[in-house]
Amino acid sequence: MEEEKMEGSIFDMINKRVILLDGGMGTELIKHGFPQGACPESWNVEKPEVVKEIHQSYYDAGSDVVLTNSFGGSSIKMASHGLEKRCYELNYAAAKIAIDVKPQGKFLAGSMGPTGKFLKPQGEYTEEQFEEAYTEQAKGLAEGGVDFLLIETQYDLKEALCALRGARKACDLPVFVTMTFNHYPRGFFTIMGNSVSQCIQELEENDVPVLGSNCTLNSEEMVDLVKIMRGLTSLPIIAQANAGKPSLSKEGEVSYSQGLEDYVRFLPQMVQNGANLIGGCCGTDPEYIKKMAEILRSERNQK
Ligand SMILES: [Zn+2]
Repeated sequence: MEEEKMEGSIFDMINKRVILLDGGMGTELIKHGFPQGACPESWNVEKPEVVKEIHQSYYDAGSDVVLTNSFGGSSIKMASHGLEKRCYELNYAAAKIAIDVKPQGKFLAGSMGPTGKFLKPQGEYTEEQFEEAYTEQAKGLAEGGVDFLLIETQYDLKEALCALRGARKACDLPVFVTMTFNHYPRGFFTIMGNSVSQCIQELEENDVPVLGSNCTLNSEEMVDLVKIMRGLTSLPIIAQANAGKPSLSKEGEVSYSQGLEDYVRFLPQMVQNGANLIGGCCGTDPEYIKKMAEILRSERNQK
């Protein structure tokens, strides 16, 4: 029974080869005229054709998995735009839009980013409130039809575990988790001070089947982090680096410091160090993904 369920699943593909995720969504929305400060998830209803076009461009570039436009879709994050009552609707729409363009044999992951708030005592929220906010989001994504959930860019292990419990309360889908780490002289830590080993240990203890890291680091730093993670776990590892650091021009345009060629040259080492699911993050676009697909293909052929 269990094995039957696995056939053709994301786990099935992970067992066969390195999987390519997609690149940045936020930066792509801005390219398409998304106004600063607005709620990105609102475009799932207001401009679904734009969101759909971005998903399509990633599948066309070679992504095996595309992430829904729901990064800020927890009800607590939605409340910062006064849209908390539309949490279910906008997450459900996020899934539906992407499913329209999902090719056969490819996957759709429901993106669940941080609430942007803090738990007590640093903040004013309880773990129960966080859990509830993620449950509502996960319900919308799951009922909209995503294949699995990706709790991503988490900088507080406690929040990640709330998200995990919340997601599991909402559905039976597999739930993957990525944490975001800063590179300090003494090593990699989240801004809340969680170490890599602490994150991996607690996520493993909570039966997370696939884990890893995304955002903040460039691809060179991510290569080192993957090596550390591989030394601590035998689970499949996700690695999604940013295209370096963002900077703001006088005209208000955001650009990233790591160009395409520099970004992708670390890819073979990332695979060698043990990454199983690789994708881009902030500052990467379909061109980056296309090049990454080529590199992964040629790596496969060399074996
Ligand atoms: Zn990022």
